[in-house]
Amino acid sequence: MATVYTVPKLTDYSPASFETATRDLLSALESESSAIHGDTDWKIFRDRWMARKDGMVTQINDLWLKAAPKEAKREAGQRVNELKGKIAASVESVRQRIQGGRTASRLTSDSVDITLPGVRRPVGVEHPVIRTRNELVSVFRNLGYSVSEGPEIESDYYNFEALNFPPNHPARDTQDTLFIAGQDKKPPRERLLLRTHTSPVQIRTMERLKPPLRIVIPGKVYRNDPPDASHSPMFHQIEGLAVDTNITFGDLKGTLDHAMKAMFGSNVKTQFRPSFFPFTEPSAEMMVSCFICGGGGKRGAEPCRPCKTTGWIEILGCGMVDPNVFEFVKHNGYDPKKVSGFAFGMGIDRVAILKYGVDDIQLFFQGDVRFLQQFA
Ligand SMILES: [Zn+2]
Repeated sequence: MATVYTVPKLTDYSPASFETATRDLLSALESESSAIHGDTDWKIFRDRWMARKDGMVTQINDLWLKAAPKEAKREAGQRVNELKGKIAASVESVRQRIQGGRTASRLTSDSVDITLPGVRRPVGVEHPVIRTRNELVSVFRNLGYSVSEGPEIESDYYNFEALNFPPNHPARDTQDTLFIAGQDKKPPRERLLLRTHTSPVQIRTMERLKPPLRIVIPGKVYRNDPPDASHSPMFHQIEGLAVDTNITFGDLKGTLDHAMKAMFGSNVKTQFRPSFFPFTEPSAEMMVSCFICGGGGKRGAEPCRPCKTTGWIEILGCGMVDPNVFEFVKHNGYDPKKVSGFAFGMGIDRVAILKYGVDDIQLFFQGDVRFLQQFA
């Protein structure tokens, strides 16, 4: 068993005697320092060698220098100073090894062998719904429309009332709309719900900006629908609104016909059929000729499913803004006697489904990389 080193008294102060004592001390310093592996060890080691009271440095000072006879003092002083320096350096280098160890080993493990081939990181792409949204937005941006957005949690006022929904309209029922719980004490128009369409942003924008106005409104909307292949409680809409003096149904038809050609190809045709929405009058459904079968209703010998063999796909709802809607924002320059406008809205997910031939809307929201990779 190794004995613990202690500083010996010197019997004489000859160079030979100093040599031996110095060698023994340095060898003890060396072997003790190399056995240290932690912070606690290091503090004990530091105190054993450096402590003012009784540390090794103090001891060599007392036993080798102070005790030296006058004629040996000079020699002893040099030797002791040299040793103090070596002891201090050793204590410091052990500290660096222990406390800086983490950094040093990190540097080693993080170091890069630049001769190895690089790690290829997979590059992400736009989700098909987002890509479709961006395409639709850019079609209208090119026509001078700007983008407007609004909250997904809306009040009954913006979602229904200001859009001319009568008080007992079935859409206001909890069967169709997801209301925020615990609002029974609030007046009906202040009750909060998850917006069922992007149309509330029409009112919000008209409250903020005076006419003329040309905006598209993309965003998420919510309905109380159980999920199936063609329904999702959350889906995406894009909606447009143009207000100016002398806007006519002809402007609506021309704009939307152009937009469909920009989106699906210059060969597509459009057709309008009468419909009803509370916030437009007159209202229409717009059909676009099937861009999958080219309007023939067949793909080879097979019936074309997306258009149900009719050659037409119902793509959006539209109409002239109902004057009753303008009444709600009349104070901001939307006098129904002076301005007119048209509005339209469509499901972005539905367009993406048609465009990419996807047969289940749920696939868009399940986050399955195997599905999404097909669009990379
Ligand atoms: Zn078709």
